[in-house]
Amino acid sequence: MNALKEKKQNSSSQIFKNEIRLNARAVSRGIAVGKIVCLHGRKRQFYKINLEASQIEPELRRFRVAVGLAIGQLKKISSQKSDKIIETKVNIFDAHLLILEDKSLHSKIENNIREQKINAEWAVKIVTDDYIAKFKSISDEHLRERYIDLEDVADRILTALGGGNSIFRLEKNSIIVAKEVKPSTLIELTGCQPQAIITENGGWTSHTFILARELNLPAVTGLKKILRRVKTGDEVVVDGFGGQIILNPIKKTLQKYLVTAQEFEQDKSANLETVKGKLKTLDGKEVKIRANLDLPKGYAQAKCFGAQGIGLYRSEFLFNQFKGFPTEQEQVEAYRKIARMVGEEAVRIRTFDLSVEQLADETEEKEKNPALGLRAIRLSLSYRDEFRVQLRALLQASTENNISIVLPMISDVAEILQTKKLLEREKEKLKKRKIEYGSPRLGAMIEVPSAVLMIDEIAEEVDFLCLGTNDLVQYLLAVDRDNEAVADWFRTLHPAVLRSIKTVLQAATRREIPVIVCGEMAGSPVYVPVLLGLGATELSMNVNSIPRIRKIISEIAMEEAQEIVEKLDGCRSADEVEEAVSGFYQEKWAHLFSKDIFQQNRNKKN
Ligand code: PEP
Ligand code: MG
Repeated sequence: MNALKEKKQNSSSQIFKNEIRLNARAVSRGIAVGKIVCLHGRKRQFYKINLEASQIEPELRRFRVAVGLAIGQLKKISSQKSDKIIETKVNIFDAHLLILEDKSLHSKIENNIREQKINAEWAVKIVTDDYIAKFKSISDEHLRERYIDLEDVADRILTALGGGNSIFRLEKNSIIVAKEVKPSTLIELTGCQPQAIITENGGWTSHTFILARELNLPAVTGLKKILRRVKTGDEVVVDGFGGQIILNPIKKTLQKYLVTAQEFEQDKSANLETVKGKLKTLDGKEVKIRANLDLPKGYAQAKCFGAQGIGLYRSEFLFNQFKGFPTEQEQVEAYRKIARMVGEEAVRIRTFDLSVEQLADETEEKEKNPALGLRAIRLSLSYRDEFRVQLRALLQASTENNISIVLPMISDVAEILQTKKLLEREKEKLKKRKIEYGSPRLGAMIEVPSAVLMIDEIAEEVDFLCLGTNDLVQYLLAVDRDNEAVADWFRTLHPAVLRSIKTVLQAATRREIPVIVCGEMAGSPVYVPVLLGLGATELSMNVNSIPRIRKIISEIAMEEAQEIVEKLDGCRSADEVEEAVSGFYQEKWAHLFSKDIFQQNRNKKN
């Protein structure tokens, strides 16, 4: 808020500027005013930093260490004679090594750091972009294609630069603009407190925006070629309610947004009172609210809002923090810390939901479809040693019996059976080593269509289910949740999604096991009445969604929620469901929902 006040005072000189308004999709609520910082890079993201004279020598050293690290990695890979690496691949790595060891490349980058007083990442970008452009203009096709090797080498140096003490730091009021922001970059940036995020790509359920909502960071997406339209230092307003950005805002605009931002802040503080007692609908039905947490420090706030434990802890965020698989001991400590925090309300820890591209394992082929590839439980079962370490850590941290294990992306009962065997073996080992361990309950994420169809068999093998609606919508409707181009096809209220949810809830009732709905659907006020009507009684959500969801639940009756779902029976499409839902809300709950609930973000194009 101080930043906004400052802006108000300084903005008089901008009255004659021409502001530019661009429509976007709002994916995290809030208003921010600030200066743009353009983020670049593929595997590792970075931006330009101007250095002080005293920072140049340390920066040169940081660059040399990173190059040494990258050379070491390549030498190791090239010397491996495993079946996994075919000969052509070894040749590619040898070519990369030649480029990496090229002294003229090093001195060009070092000269840029020295003379332009810029960070190593930016110098690597300038120099390699220049080489890449030259390669791309070569007429010989074979030689022209070598630019790909240069891109790979640049990525490798940039990744190695991120492994050391990177110098991410932002000016006050920085607003990040990027094609897309990786969750790991956002975690790295949070220490510098950016004010908002603007991206070209990403969807409502992208992990980056889930995290942005957890961090109360306004975010908008869907701005095509945004990096070509703005530059670092440009002034911008981000409207994370209406879905808009305003470049070069005039004084009047700034004043308007200042008021909206103030009202939002007041609204938020009104919600900060501690909640006690059970949450019940108007007709007395209890609904359990739990928190989805990626950064455990948010649990204190969740508890104030009345959360009963953690419904979903995405352990892969540890992988991001540790920049690789944490050791057994690091994991035991991390899981114990969360378990202690939640006490008897318990935490459901999901095993690493990683894709192979996040591993930086050079022996694996790049995947064309990572969402359909070696991901989640498949990756864990393929990287058994790492999976065993995680299971062992979870067993050791479970001595208070308040940890449950959740397996992501289950598509076949066999994956559960294999995990159970591994758990038994790890228990045996711990027993032999006389290390104390507990018996965590085991759950499966239901987020793949085959799991819905096999729900009775799966339910028989686990203690509870977690409904991951983000992936369920993605896989059921074949719509990439991170791809802005198909965001209009990501229809949470598609009849196929509703039928699947109902199938899962009914199977769980038959087997008498709980189901926690933990996708973003559970934290959306618009969708929650439908979920209740379908039979959901346990919802796990982003901490900052809890107050709004509590309000909705306490102001509606379960009977009414069931009535909506009955009305949806004959609907054949997402449009028909949305029309019926919105009609019902207007008739019964006009005080809770606005007329255009489903229109706000749809069909906005620049
Ligand atoms: C989901 O898919 O709904 C879910 C909760 O998990 P994630 O968003 O991490 O894939
Ligand atoms: Mg998922």
